[in-house]
Amino acid sequence: MTDIEYNLSVIEDRIAAACARAGRAREEVTLIAVSKTKPVSAIEDAIRCGIREFGENKVQELTDKYDQVTVPVNWHLIGHLQRNKVKYIIGKTRLIHSVDSVRLAAQIEEEAAKKDCICDILIELNIAGEESKFGVTSEELEAMIREIAAFPHIRIKGLMTVAPFVENPEENRPCFCKMRELFLDIKSKNIDNVSMETLSMGMSKDFETAIEEGATMVRIGTSIFGERIYPQKN
Ligand SMILES: *Cc1c(COP(=O)(O)O)cnc(C)c1O
Repeated sequence: MTDIEYNLSVIEDRIAAACARAGRAREEVTLIAVSKTKPVSAIEDAIRCGIREFGENKVQELTDKYDQVTVPVNWHLIGHLQRNKVKYIIGKTRLIHSVDSVRLAAQIEEEAAKKDCICDILIELNIAGEESKFGVTSEELEAMIREIAAFPHIRIKGLMTVAPFVENPEENRPCFCKMRELFLDIKSKNIDNVSMETLSMGMSKDFETAIEEGATMVRIGTSIFGERIYPQKN
């Protein structure tokens, strides 16, 4: 058994247990394996274990791996997206999790229209109001959704957040709870072209809490692939 295989089996048990605690069906939660900085061989290992959803935070890395992985898998862009890079990924992602401005959405609309495809996105929230984080505030959310919903080549599928980095996952429970409230609030408004299906929250340290609070996608990297080693910048 490889490390990745072992790690995935542990994660699977923990996801199932969290679903059971919350009275939710296991099928309600999709695991996104976050493969950023990891080689294609690691992705292939995970594919052998049945994983088909992969998350990357950089456009270049996503498109490189998109070309190298031959098994059909779904790619999720989970990191900040610059407008000048949009053209490289349209048509290659199952879901863009990190849309946080109307300007970015307008760029996605333009490129998706050129390629004659529909792009599924999530709106990223900075739920704890951290200065260092991308994402919109809960106050800005509805107005932004209404503007983006007017774009014909974009479908808004839900919300995403990167919760604060904490040691004790309980500290993030209020954030996750708030996300779910916003999610349900937007859903109840039945805005045209907006389907609140996906609530993307929870990472290696706090995914069980996120599932208990309603996450439908969890994005897990380190606990599957091990610690990330970033090259030294001189
Ligand atoms: C890296 C990353 C993750 C995964 O983080 P881990 O703590 O390694 O599980 C999830 N979401 C986003 C947006 C990330 O950039």
